[in-house]
Amino acid sequence: MINVKSRTVICPHCGHHTHLDLDVSNGDQDYYEECTNCCQEIHIKTHFDEVKRAIDIAFDADDEQFY
Ligand SMILES: [Zn+2]
Repeated sequence: MINVKSRTVICPHCGHHTHLDLDVSNGDQDYYEECTNCCQEIHIKTHFDEVKRAIDIAFDADDEQFY
């Protein structure tokens, strides 16, 4: 079984589509990925849902802004 999933996220800083290879074999992850366009960090959180056999992915700018 291949545990790497490819996903595209939209950079919250500049709107650029960034391609990610997600390794879900190590369970849930919480890390930062640098945008290839604007070089700002995107906070990536992944959660593998065992029931749905699907990845929930959340990402945000992590810039401490609250609306
Ligand atoms: Zn960007």
